[in-house]
Amino acid sequence: MIKAIVFDLDHCLMSPHELGAHALAPVVRAVTEANAGRLSEGVLRSAFADFMRAPFDRVALKHGFPEDVSAAARTAFAQLAVPRTLRGYADLPVLARLPVRRYLVTTGFLLFQQRKIDALGIGPLFAGVYIDAIDRPARTSKKAIFAEILASQGHVMDEVLVVGDSAESEIAAGNELGLATVQILREGVVRTGDAKHHIEDLAELEALLGGA
Ligand SMILES: [Mg+2]
Repeated sequence: MIKAIVFDLDHCLMSPHELGAHALAPVVRAVTEANAGRLSEGVLRSAFADFMRAPFDRVALKHGFPEDVSAAARTAFAQLAVPRTLRGYADLPVLARLPVRRYLVTTGFLLFQQRKIDALGIGPLFAGVYIDAIDRPARTSKKAIFAEILASQGHVMDEVLVVGDSAESEIAAGNELGLATVQILREGVVRTGDAKHHIEDLAELEALLGGA
C-alpha cells in the first residue's frame, strides 16, 4: 500500500521550456563573457542546451567549465527571474487528487527552484518541499533527503514511491534506498531500465496507485 510519493520537479511536474526560450539569457551572457573564447562556441552551445536537462554542477563538469566561468554562471543562475505564474504539465491538477502524502525534492539553485514552485502554486500540496541547493554550503544529496523524509515522517520503505525523470538523480537515489521508483517519460526523457515502473503522465500514476 503506497502512502507517500516523493516527486521531482523539472521534467516531472513542469517543463523547463515553459520558462521561455530566453529564460537562461542572463546565464548565457555571463558564461560567454567570462569564457572569453576559451571553450569553443560548439561546447558552449551544447552546455546551454544541457542546462535545460541537468543540474548546473553536472553540466559544468561535463563540459570542463573553468572555475571563473562556473562562478559567473552560478551568480547568474542564483538571480534568475521566473514568470509570475507557471501552469506546469497539463496533467498537474491530478497531483491534488492522489490519495497519498506528497513530498517535493528538487535539485538546483535555491531561489530559482523556489520561484518555480511558487509560480506553479503547488507548495501547499506537499507535506514537505526540499531543495537540494547547488548554491548552499550545507548541501547533501537527493538520497540523503529521501532518507531524512523516511526517518522524520515515519514512513517505511515499501509504502513510498519515487517519481521523476532522471536515471542518475532521483531514480538512482530511490533505488539505492530500496524504494520503488517510477520514471515519468515526459517529452525528451530517455527511458531507463533502472526504474521499476514507467508512466507517461500523472493519470497513469493515479491508475498505478489504484491497482497497487
Ligand atoms: Mg527532473
